[in-house]
Amino acid sequence: MIDTHCHLNKEDYDDVNKVIENMKDNIMIVSTASPNDLKEVIDLIETHKNIYATIGIHPEFADTYTEDDLKQVEKYLNHPKVVGIGEIGLDYHYTKENKEKQEELFRKQIILANKYKKTIVIHTRDAMLDTYNILKENKNKNIKCNFHCYSGSLEMAKEIIKLNGTFGIGGVLTFKNEKKLKEIVKELDLKYFLLETDSPYLTPEPFRGQKNEPKNIEYVAKKIAEIKKISYKKVIEATTENAIYQFDMKNSL
Ligand SMILES: [Zn+2]
Repeated sequence: MIDTHCHLNKEDYDDVNKVIENMKDNIMIVSTASPNDLKEVIDLIETHKNIYATIGIHPEFADTYTEDDLKQVEKYLNHPKVVGIGEIGLDYHYTKENKEKQEELFRKQIILANKYKKTIVIHTRDAMLDTYNILKENKNKNIKCNFHCYSGSLEMAKEIIKLNGTFGIGGVLTFKNEKKLKEIVKELDLKYFLLETDSPYLTPEPFRGQKNEPKNIEYVAKKIAEIKKISYKKVIEATTENAIYQFDMKNSL
């Protein structure tokens, strides 16, 4: 299994080594959010064979990041285990007032993805249309993108597929009241889905409310199997293959 999007900051877990140990036969792609995460994430990928990374600056830091932070991201994009740029995008949930700054940071990082031919991992919250438009205007056609923890509509999902896009599916799918995402999983081909946990957040049922960790990805896979009426094994095989393609990992496994 590949957890295509998680955070493994030491400070978030009682024992991060145990969390990593629990995924020892599987792969994790750890994402940075804050520029301060970069060093810790690079350490992780250099000390663990089964951990890879996507690096980038989350829109939450649009007001506070420095040019040097961006230079650091660019520097590590050449690292053989950095498989994408992310999570980047727009977040209007807490504030829209710095919209221009968020857009500028997003655009600059899309340009880096084009330059280094890296997959883009998108974070978008309450900003789907702007995110889509900026991506469409700035991303080179052949660059792949993944909407992590997808929460948009089925119609938008179909447009995103035309942009060479896929969808990260996590714990939200298992929530009892979640209908829209279940519909999307049912309607679209399995090839467009990646498994993710977004640990330590968004813990799937039956552990909702507790801290999430990558090993819980199996509950997301089980839910997809149930919705699509296919075997769990098939879901694991297909989503693993999807992830390897999405992040061009074939030669580095
Ligand atoms: Zn995340």
